[in-house]
Parts: sequence; structure tokens; C-alpha cells
Amino acid sequence: MNKRSVRDLDVQGKRVLVRVDFNVPVKDGRVTDDTRIRRALPTVRYLLSEGARPVLISHVGRPKGEPDPKYAMDPVAHRLGELLNQQVMKLDASVGPEVEEELGKWDGRGIVLLENSRFYPGETKNDPDLARQLAALADLYVNDAFGAAHRAHATTVGVAELLPAAAGLLMEEEIDYLDTVLRDPERPFVAILGGAKVSDKLGVIESLLGKADRLLIGGAMCFTFFKAKGYEVGDSLVEEDYLEEAKRLMDGAGDRLVLPIDVVVADRMEEGAESRAVEVNRIPQGMMGLDVSLGTVGLFREHIANAKTIFWNGPMGVFEIDAFAGGTEGVAKAVAASDATSVIGGGDSVAAVRKLGLEDEMSFISTGGGASLEYVEGKELPGVAVLPDEEG
Ligand code: ADP
Ligand code: MG
Repeated sequence: MNKRSVRDLDVQGKRVLVRVDFNVPVKDGRVTDDTRIRRALPTVRYLLSEGARPVLISHVGRPKGEPDPKYAMDPVAHRLGELLNQQVMKLDASVGPEVEEELGKWDGRGIVLLENSRFYPGETKNDPDLARQLAALADLYVNDAFGAAHRAHATTVGVAELLPAAAGLLMEEEIDYLDTVLRDPERPFVAILGGAKVSDKLGVIESLLGKADRLLIGGAMCFTFFKAKGYEVGDSLVEEDYLEEAKRLMDGAGDRLVLPIDVVVADRMEEGAESRAVEVNRIPQGMMGLDVSLGTVGLFREHIANAKTIFWNGPMGVFEIDAFAGGTEGVAKAVAASDATSVIGGGDSVAAVRKLGLEDEMSFISTGGGASLEYVEGKELPGVAVLPDEEG
């Protein structure tokens, strides 16, 4: 990464405002999945070991620009304290005189966690006033929230313009892995895309077709391609508005684009539905394609086994229902078994990999679904762009 790193800053004795991505699920006052908190720990531990005074800020959920107890950071503070085995001073606001006063009284031990940044309407508007109030709290700013880097908000962009700024360790790792894939991948580079909609991922398909040696497409989006080929797709999910686009992509891609050869069809999207495998040009009317089948997994596995670099986003089927999880499982196992550098992005794909207990077999699992896709699309992430380049 060509951005200044937290390791380039002299943080000793300094107050460092750290934008983290603690947007974790909370139920009955408890964090039910602490992955994102854990992923931020290296930066927090680094700052503590260097004698800095970390002041953490994040958003959780989608409060409507005002305090909402449902989205308070207290459960996060509790879990963070357990994981760090450190005192976490949780404040009930993100900015303002009370926060400044509390920070003034702080003996500098442990860490501070500010309240949910989205309790302020200025956060998502990147309001300069909120940015100034945030900047008043610290000497330095570090952004470790890759998952929020595609948003130009006060905590990701506004404040970064006002304080000496740098990327955190997770941010660096995320960008470095994605750059490995995008800039100069070891070949063959095999990309795998799935999930619900072509329309969501059109830019990603285009970008990957330009970079990958093979692009394997599963999930619901393959049916838009099949319909564009003139196949009967029954009741499968199809985006009629994208048929022309799909045709254009297929024409330009030649054999770089690899589509399924067989799929699992069922009469409804439910556990216990009548299901069977069919070839892709034999989908019966009244049935819908809900997963890729064994022949496709075998075909995809050959490409995956041959790869030196893999990027995967989007499940191969409706993996939330066991009957339609086989394709995603097969692909996940193939990626896990390969010795390629493998990068997994996307909320649902990551959930599928975790459900299968295969996280440790992947080279890197991105914490940012939307952010990783935008990066792969070639878009500049505002939260990264705003950070100064590294010196020399
Ligand atoms: P990610 O979060 O990994 O980027 P998406 O959000 O794009 O993935 O898509 C995930 C969703 O796509 C899942 O909820 C899954 O059930 C759905 N899906 C996958 N294949 C199909 C299919 N054949 N028909 C309908 N939905 C599908
Ligand atoms: Mg998703």
C-alpha cells in the first residue's frame, strides 16, 4: 500500500483517534459475532504497545442521525474489554464539551470508546463542523475501518483532512491483499462470482473479465446469462433489464467466462422442497434454479485447483437452506484445498465460509463487503484516497 501507515507515525504519548469498523450484530445487549472487533485488535494493541492513547470510534447499525439506545456502543465496549483484557472507558457521546472534559481527565491507561458516530446527522453528510469536533479530540488520526472506507463520512474523510492521518494495520492488510489480486496477480488468476443480482455486480464482472484468466459465475446471476443465451430458465431469478448487457459481456469474454453446466432446481425456495439436478438448458417450466450442481462443482474445481490467485465473492446458491448449500460448500472446499492466494469478500460469501469452518484455510477474508467490491470495480475508496501517501 502506498499510503502512510500507523507505523510511520510517532504515537508515543499521543491521543490517536482510530476509526474502526465495529459494526457488529448485537442481540439482547450482547455482541453475537465479534469478528470485526477481533480484526481491529492488532492496531489497538500496536498503539498501546507504543505508548499511545487510543480513542476509538465506529458506527453500529443504522440509527437515524440521533441517539438510539438500541445502537449504543456499550455491548461493544464490554466485548472489546474482554478481548483486550484492558480497561475500556466508554463515553456516552462522540464529540462535544463533555467528551473533551472526560478525555482531559483520562489518566491515559486503557482505551476510550466513543459513542456510535451515526447518532449524529453530520456523520453520513461529512459535515465539516462534526469533523472539526472530532479533530479536537486527538493529536493524530488512524483509519482502520476498511468496511466503511467506501463512504465519505465525517469519521472516514472529514476528520482525516484535519489531523495528521494514516492507515491502520487491518486497512493496510485489506488493501495489500486486494492489490495482490488486482494489480499483478500470480496466474492463472481465477475469479468466482455468485450471489443474487447481476445488477449489483455488473461493474465487478466487467473489471474481473479484464483481469482474470477465468471468471466462474454461479448464484442467481447465472440465470440472466442463460436467459440471454435463449435458454428456458423457468421461475429462476432473472433481471430482464440486463439481458442485453449479459449478452454483450458473454460475447466479449469468450472462454474466460465460465458458466454452470448443471443446476439444482426446485418448485419453491424452501427446505423440504422437491428438488433435482438438471442440465442448464433443461430447466423445466415452473421450477427455479437455486444452486449449482455436481457437474458444475467439478468443472469449477478444476479451474480452482489450477489457480495461483483466487478472488471469490457471492455464494453459488441459496446456501441459507441446506438443500441448496451444496454448490457453495463444494466451491468453498475447493478454494480451501488450493494453495493459491485466496481472497474472499462479500458479507454472505464470508458467512458461508465461516459456517463451513473454512476461514483459516483462506489466505484472506475481507471485512468489507461493499468496500471490497467497489475496490475490485476500480473505484477509489474515499476513506483511503484521503490518507496521505507514504513518504520517500
Ligand atoms: P455477498 O454478500 O457475498 O456479496 P450477495 O449479497 O450478492 O452475496 O448474494 C447473496 C444472496 O444470494 C444469498 O442470500 C443467496 O441466498 C442468494 N442466492 C444465491 N443463489 C441464488 C439463486 N440461485 N436464487 C436465488 N437467490 C440466490
Ligand atoms: Mg450480501
